[in-house]
Amino acid sequence: GLCQQASFIKSAAQVDQCPPDEGCEVAFAGRSNAGKSSAMNTLTHARLARTSKTPGRTQLLNFFRLDDQRRLVDLPGYGYAKVPIPLKQHWQRHLEAYLGSRHSLVGVVLLMDIRHPLTEFDCLMLDWTKASCLPMHILLTKADKLTYGAAKNALLKVQKDIRQGWGEVASVQLFSAPKRQGIEEAQAVLAGWMGL
Ligand code: GDP
Repeated sequence: GLCQQASFIKSAAQVDQCPPDEGCEVAFAGRSNAGKSSAMNTLTHARLARTSKTPGRTQLLNFFRLDDQRRLVDLPGYGYAKVPIPLKQHWQRHLEAYLGSRHSLVGVVLLMDIRHPLTEFDCLMLDWTKASCLPMHILLTKADKLTYGAAKNALLKVQKDIRQGWGEVASVQLFSAPKRQGIEEAQAVLAGWMGL
């Protein structure tokens, strides 16, 4: 399964710098601070997080190897004023190109802080993932910050809003890295997409 250690392959600033488009890969996206690094590390039992998250130095796509045929891809997040508009536009252009053209991409995991779901960034990701006919799985992160009841209500609300806005394009679940909540559910989705 996914319990193997993942290791860094390379960063790509644009689509033509990606590793060969073969085997399969799953991309992780999320607004900065949504909990993407924590979730990727928790799901792979590795420390994949980049040491520097300075937006100017963040590459477009960071590739991690699971095995010879399988990769995880860390997509850039943004959402804070720190990110200059031209960089944001560069990311948008290349992210859309990547999602629309990458044959080995079998699904997108989108991370949203359960207290701030469906940001502008999240809506763009939903638009592009739907346009590319890719399955999407959403982790509502930091579920431990809410009571059980409030977290359940937030889950139902996000499911309803997505159905109304985009149709049946995404599955949604609760997730907490420190409480180790939702790990098996997320790993099962990844395993299904990657044929594990
Ligand atoms: P990224 O910018 O999306 O990669 O976010 P990080 O994984 O670096 O997390 C941002 C902050 O949120 C850090 O302080 C994490 O410790 C915290 N964090 C991430 N996931 C969770 C979670 O599930 N629960 C709680 N309480 N904090 C979390």
